[in-house]
Amino acid sequence: MVTTSETRVAIVGAGPAGLTLANLLQRNGIGCVVVEARSRSRVEQRQRAGVLDHYGSQIFAAAGLTDQVLADAPAERFLEFRFDGEPRFFEGPALAGGRAGRIVPQQLLVRRLLAAFEAGGGDIRFEADATVHDLTTDRPRVTYGEHEITAAYVAGCDGFHGASRAAVPADDLTTYTFDHGIGWYTLLASSPPPWHALMAMSRHGFAAQFARGPGASRFYLQYRPGAEDPREWPDAYAWEQLRLRLGDPELVAGEITDREVVEMRSFVAEPMSHGRLHLAGDAAHIITPMGAKGMNLALADADVLARALIAAERDGDEAPLRAYSDVCLRRTWDYQEFSRWFTEMVHDVSDDDPFRRKLAKARFERLWTNPKAAEWFADMMAGTALI
Ligand code: FAD
Repeated sequence: MVTTSETRVAIVGAGPAGLTLANLLQRNGIGCVVVEARSRSRVEQRQRAGVLDHYGSQIFAAAGLTDQVLADAPAERFLEFRFDGEPRFFEGPALAGGRAGRIVPQQLLVRRLLAAFEAGGGDIRFEADATVHDLTTDRPRVTYGEHEITAAYVAGCDGFHGASRAAVPADDLTTYTFDHGIGWYTLLASSPPPWHALMAMSRHGFAAQFARGPGASRFYLQYRPGAEDPREWPDAYAWEQLRLRLGDPELVAGEITDREVVEMRSFVAEPMSHGRLHLAGDAAHIITPMGAKGMNLALADADVLARALIAAERDGDEAPLRAYSDVCLRRTWDYQEFSRWFTEMVHDVSDDDPFRRKLAKARFERLWTNPKAAEWFADMMAGTALI
């Protein structure tokens, strides 16, 4: 037998976008239900992003959620670059007028957002693999198993592989996909973490090292998709390449607890709204990790969507909802451009293409010789409010 329920906003997906939206709506008295395909433990343990930009932290501050969501999250200070082993420290927050990001592992943010939503009496249903229906009517539905939720609006926050975007007829959607031709071999290892986020640009390719707690580091090694397969690299070779590229001959080879291969692709779907469905986060766009904007874009979408839904529900004003897609796409494309710019700067340094290496070096030097360029970079890292 089908059980039915009703809400104002049905949110599909309990990632950063869905849970941020749920909390913002709850705090403004707008009824919502979150349905999540995975189990609670899978959602709470999924490791991905690690940096909340300044704009992202302001979303939680404005909602009075700083203590619940960002307690003890250290502020970002420096980004360390190494060019052929030579260190340079970029003090982004100082250059961005004190707007510092916060270091918060995505799984911690998700756990805390979940706890805040539930503490406020929030309705979240796990292991609910949802499908969306009747999106261009005024009573859209979300179904899973033997359950049906009728809502006034559906928020598709179900990530790149979710059901929401897939429910939009192909003729109503324009998609843009870009393959950057760059692969990353990522390793999680029990090696002492660096003092600052560390990105190394070298003749041998890009490498990075980020702290993952007090006793662990996540490492990234650039590889050439199609030409080489890092899954065949012996660990000793990976450590040798890390020492070479990071310019750190003393790097401790800790126990490797996780390894992944990522090929860099960008994707944007336009528009982000279809009838009463509004897509947010990875459901609408994915971006390279350079600039750390994936999770932050998801939060920014949730913020804009929450404001628009509140205007519609409280004041009967649907204009912000009609503008939602355009507003979010402006920021999305701005960040896509920034991320591509950053990606090229740090990955084009190998000896494979001497001309590109020279361009990448010129791009990098501009950050240290042109104060306006440095401020722009710091500003993009801090994140932008409505454009
Ligand atoms: P997701 O986090 O993908 O959440 C979507 C949720 O929807 C999931 O819980 C999923 O189970 C659920 N779902 C899917 N289908 C359904 C369905 N049919 N019914 C119900 N629920 C469904 N970003 C950064 O900003 N900085 C970084 O350093 C960074 N590093 C990354 C590293 C890796 C390896 C990866 C993969 C991503 C990284 N990102 C980073 C990107 C960032 O993690 C994503 O942009 C972010 O998770 C997007 O949040 P979201 O809520 O839109 O989607």
